[in-house]
Amino acid sequence: MDLTGIEDRLQGVKLRTRFAPTPSGFLHLGHIAHCIYVWGIARSLNGQVLLRIEDHDRQRSKHCYTESILQDLDWLGFEADEGYRSEVDGESFVQSANSKLYEDALSLLKEKGVTYFCTCSRKLIKERMKSEASGRGYDGHCRQLKHPLKGDASIRLEVNSKMLSFWDATLGDSFQNPGLEFGDLMLKDRRLNFSYHLSVVVDDLRHKVNVLIRGLDLLPATGVQLYLRNLLEQKPTKPIFVHHPLLYQKDKPSIKLSKRNWDASIASFRKSGFSADQLIGQVAFELGLTKSEGKLKVRDLKSLWA
Ligand SMILES: [Zn+2]
Repeated sequence: MDLTGIEDRLQGVKLRTRFAPTPSGFLHLGHIAHCIYVWGIARSLNGQVLLRIEDHDRQRSKHCYTESILQDLDWLGFEADEGYRSEVDGESFVQSANSKLYEDALSLLKEKGVTYFCTCSRKLIKERMKSEASGRGYDGHCRQLKHPLKGDASIRLEVNSKMLSFWDATLGDSFQNPGLEFGDLMLKDRRLNFSYHLSVVVDDLRHKVNVLIRGLDLLPATGVQLYLRNLLEQKPTKPIFVHHPLLYQKDKPSIKLSKRNWDASIASFRKSGFSADQLIGQVAFELGLTKSEGKLKVRDLKSLWA
């Protein structure tokens, strides 16, 4: 991990990153892995962590999960500097309360003439994409059809072929062509939910997040999110990326905790007597960040990259 590279690119600006869980389930060990990178990197570079609740999918998100996520973070000791519970502006860190912001972004894109209505069902898209080798998620079928405004349609962004570059602290200089590799991006689905991609890009911009720390599973969407970001920003800025390894990449975890269900919730580990420092220490070891299994406190995470 090239922390010096992050520091150099920030050019004296304070690091701002975020932990942004979706409240559609309980936190599990994979979330601890992500928190280790988010808080570890932020604390190592004297940066700030924001806590944002990404409940853009209103059908799947539940308030009881938000409550349990907050409890787990408290218990683990991952304390945000700003966000969901900040007294000043708490609501703006919950996506479901910010529909107007995403609608405004959508209007801006419509004005630019880069959106269109798509009436394809997921099943239909899947069938059509079977024969395509590019890896794109959508073939742009409705782009030329110019469907008139209708209720039962999703809204997509035209993503044209263009090579984009970004710098990543674990991967170095990276390049993606989202038009060829990803395809036209969904902005709003037919159930009127703003997509993850639109809401996360809008929020990262308004929250001035300059270091995007995320799992390697999100790497295929990095180029397309940058593409969207460039369209929404008057003066495009370059965020710094850290795509970190996932906890579940190994076939057979060697972790002591695997005697239990590997996907078990943090709450269930807590109930069976594990301490927070024990869980964090085990996960850090599994990720290869420490040489031996042992307890680890949140305040000592910065020693991982010292
Ligand atoms: Zn379509």
